[in-house]
Parts: sequence; structure tokens; C-alpha cells
Amino acid sequence: MANTVLVTGGTGYIGGEVIDQLLLNGYSVHTTVRDRAKSEPRLRSRWPDAGDRLKVFQADLMSDAGWAEANAGCDAVAHVASPFPLDVPRHKDELVIPAREGTLRALRFATAAGVTRFVQTSSAAAIAYGHPEKDHFDHTDWTNLVVGVPPYIESKTVAERAARAWVEANAPELVFCSVNPVAVFGPVYDNDLSTSVELVKKVVDGSIPLAPNMGICVTDVRDVARAHVLAIEAPAEDVRGERFPTSQKFMWIREMADAVRERVPEFAAKVPTRPMPDWMVKFLALFMPEMRQIKGELGNVRDVSGRHTEEVLGFTFIPAEQTLEDTVRSLVEHGIVKV
Ligand code: NAP
Repeated sequence: MANTVLVTGGTGYIGGEVIDQLLLNGYSVHTTVRDRAKSEPRLRSRWPDAGDRLKVFQADLMSDAGWAEANAGCDAVAHVASPFPLDVPRHKDELVIPAREGTLRALRFATAAGVTRFVQTSSAAAIAYGHPEKDHFDHTDWTNLVVGVPPYIESKTVAERAARAWVEANAPELVFCSVNPVAVFGPVYDNDLSTSVELVKKVVDGSIPLAPNMGICVTDVRDVARAHVLAIEAPAEDVRGERFPTSQKFMWIREMADAVRERVPEFAAKVPTRPMPDWMVKFLALFMPEMRQIKGELGNVRDVSGRHTEEVLGFTFIPAEQTLEDTVRSLVEHGIVKV
């Protein structure tokens, strides 16, 4: 049983929720941030009673500094930090290199410090791309890095593959597994929004007045964090080498809009009711970063099953409609969108 867990990327949407659940479950938590002076006050204000049970370390994915100190005394690592930008970078290496090097660095320092369990936050990005003939996927599928796969997809695929190869070659005794979330929504803590939540914000604040012909799988940040905690707690033989996709269900944007309209009727007037023609998405992609991401997904079904995760880790995902309602209500509560 782990007592102290290192969560990398404590400033992030998922990292914060993992820390939250670990503290609630009685663990001590170490976390890495890139700028301690800036981030520690924010983390302390979120967990004012954590005291010594929360320790904040400065460490960048691209440098060795701080990693030994962050891992010292830890039993398990949840390696969550990885670049997840809204826009497509100029060069794929801006994402691929920190994702891969950062994961290998985190693994090296963890094993050197005697950590026995390592959960990598991978992604459905490492599962469901580069297979034009397929529209249903599960934990056994791997993204095929064909030409044209977006840099973020490549970064997550390369990082997960590199981690698995490194463990096999260098630390076969380490209990390693990955959590592979689809698009993550759910309650937010403050106005520093993850790229995924930006999408819901734009659907309800009127910035996307028509629904693009695009679908995504929905998962709740509370379930993603729960999967990390359960993967740390489960018997080693249940999780070693596993992949745990978290995905409640696939929804088209228009279905997400319908769910929000039904469950949060105050927003009915702002949420799109009519489809956005594909040509308009392509035109808007010239100057709207989020449309650039959507452009390549028009009409695609990528239905990633999370059933394996529910079965092995023994819990049931929050219904997607509830997740969307909670996302919107939380954006309102924090003054990020106005009715
Ligand atoms: P997020 O809120 O943007 O968090 C990303 C975290 O990574 C931040 O703490 C960030 O630190 C850290 N980070 C980025 N580059 C770094 C670097 N060079 N050195 C150290 N830390 C760095 O995003 P998120 O949604 O929580 O995503 C967390 C993880 O989940 C990522 O691995 C992402 O690929 C994965 N994921 C997310 C989703 C989703 O829909 N949200 C879906 C599947 C997988 P700073 O605060 O310093 O920038």
C-alpha cells in the first residue's frame, strides 16, 4: 500500500483532481510544478488544510533539476504532466520531445528513488488514430503513426510506447500501467481551463453558435482521477502492464449541446441548435485554433470503450450528461461563463 505519491503536473486539471482524491483518501502527496513561486500559493489555497501532507517541488519535464527531491520518499508516481496546448504547434517536436523525454525522466528518477508503482497518464490519443477503417476501439488498440497524425496524438503515442519499452528493458519489476482518458470534462477548480473544458465553455458562451459535425468521447475528471488512485491501490497482478481507457460514451457535439440545453435550460438560448457546415469549420480554422483541431475530425467516429477499466478497477463511470451539466454549472459558479 502506497503512503506517499508523487503527482507530476499538480497545476493541471487532471493532476489537481488526482491530488484532491489522494489527499481525501489519506495519502501524503508530492507534486511537481514548473514555477514553484507562482504555483505553490495557488495549490495551498486549494488545499489549505493539507499542511505537510502536500509538498511542492519545482521540476520541468526537460531538465533533471528537482526530480530526485520530488521522488524521495515516494512509493508510487502518477505521471500526469505533459504538454496539452489548445493550438497545433509550429513543429511537432515542441510536444513530442517533452512528452517522451519527460516520461523517461520521470521513470528514471522514480526507479532510482525506489518507487514501486508508476501510473502514466496517457490518452485515447495513443489508442484511436491512424486507422481509417475502424470506428470502435478499446485498450488493445494502438494508434498507427501514419503521416498527418496531429502532433499531440503523436506525442502521447510516442510517450506511452517509450515508457513501456523503457520499463521492459530497465525496470521489469516496476508495476507500470497507463490511464488513457478520452476528452476530459467535469467540475473546474478555477479559471485556468484545460483545453478540453475550453470546448464546453465555447459551446455555452456563444463562441460556437453552430454545432460542427464532430464527435468525441466524454469522460469525467473525477473518474480519470479515480482510475489513477485505483491503479495505485489495486493488487499488482491486476494492473501490471495494463491500459485503462476512461470513456463513458461517444457523443456528437450536437448531442452534447442537446444534453446541456436539457439539463441547464438557462443556457438554451446560447447553445447551438443548428449544424455548422464543414466548409465553415475549414474557413474558421484559418484563424481559430480550436477549429484547427476540429477540422481533421469532421464526421469521424472514434468510439473508445472504457468497459475494461470499469471491470478491472471495479467502478462505474459518471454518465456523460451529468458530467456536462456539472461542467457548465461549475463554469458558472466560477464566473467563467455568464447566463
Ligand atoms: P493541463 O491542465 O494543461 O495540465 C498539463 C500539466 O502538464 C500542467 O500541470 C503543466 O504545467 C504540465 N506541463 C506541461 N508541460 C510541462 C513541462 N515542460 N514541464 C513540466 N510540466 C509540464 O491538462 P490536463 O487536461 O490536466 O492534462 C494532463 C494530462 O492528461 C496530459 O498528459 C494530457 O495529455 C492528458 N490527457 C488529457 C485529456 C483532456 O481531455 N484534458 C485527455 C487525455 C489525456 P504548467 O501549469 O506549468 O503548464
